[in-house]
Amino acid sequence: MRFGYSETCLDHETGSRHPESPDRLRAIKRGLTDAHGVEYVDPALLSLDRITAVHDEEYVDSFETFCDAGGGNWDADTVASQESWDAALASASLGEWVAHEALAGASGRETPFSLGRPPGHHAVGDDAMGFCFFNNAAVAAQSAIDNGDAERVAIFDWDVHHGNGIQDIFYEQGNVFYASIHEDGLYPGSGDIYETGEGEGEGTTLNIPFDPGTTTAAYLLALDELIGPAIEAFDPDLFLISAGFDPHEHDPISRIRVSTEGFGCLTAAVREIADDADAALGFILEGGYGLDTLSDSVRKVHEVFDGYDPVAPEESVDEEARDLIEAVKEQGFDGV
Ligand SMILES: [Zn+2]
Repeated sequence: MRFGYSETCLDHETGSRHPESPDRLRAIKRGLTDAHGVEYVDPALLSLDRITAVHDEEYVDSFETFCDAGGGNWDADTVASQESWDAALASASLGEWVAHEALAGASGRETPFSLGRPPGHHAVGDDAMGFCFFNNAAVAAQSAIDNGDAERVAIFDWDVHHGNGIQDIFYEQGNVFYASIHEDGLYPGSGDIYETGEGEGEGTTLNIPFDPGTTTAAYLLALDELIGPAIEAFDPDLFLISAGFDPHEHDPISRIRVSTEGFGCLTAAVREIADDADAALGFILEGGYGLDTLSDSVRKVHEVFDGYDPVAPEESVDEEARDLIEAVKEQGFDGV
């Protein structure tokens, strides 16, 4: 794969006990050291109007001022340092680069994946939240539309937390489809199946809140029966994956149980959806807090694009997960 990477993203300091640390990126890079076919790209910084296309100027200004003054606790768990402004700009730039690369034709072994931090999917239009300052995936999607490179963009968010920020930013917008699989009951508490979009965005939000303990097989069933058909019907030009690796079975902060091999299966499934929808495909890093599980899982995604054929799990899908998938279908997401 072609990985977007900027040293500037290491400068966002969150303190020695914060799970969202620069060591996450170091671990991913270490895990890819001897992998075949890895390429790193450090793209140019985006212009600020890409950020203000999805975030209020007043919020963006206050975040810059906050960092200039040395940073601190923005809220209970969202921490900034002086360098966080530059890191957040770099992270958003990597997101925009993914959209641009994918739409310019980078696919197969050249599929783009941004390794940015801070992550983005909790950041709403006028506030930082949940370790996130700029909504990297939203910036990427809106940039592609504003450039005229894409008419419609779909985002599938497999981070274990609901990407409330992406949902919120595009909730009333008909040209961005947002689908999320997340663990029910976790932060931030949104992502109910009845949240399906409003106005022009009605029917362009799809939430699948699985119970703790749900495994890879249920994710694959949801992709096959819900997300794939819905995205093919939406017919996007660009398909972005908000790739968080905290649904991993050994991640310290969640109870969903996707295996490392499972992330390979998810990757193969989203690649097939992109192919079927004839959409450009790119990945944007979100969360993932076990350093080994994070690096192993990113490597697994890469290996799938390098020719590895992941092994589907033999486990069966539990009844709660099946019932939830049926309930979501009743919200109108039957792919027709
Ligand atoms: Zn997360």
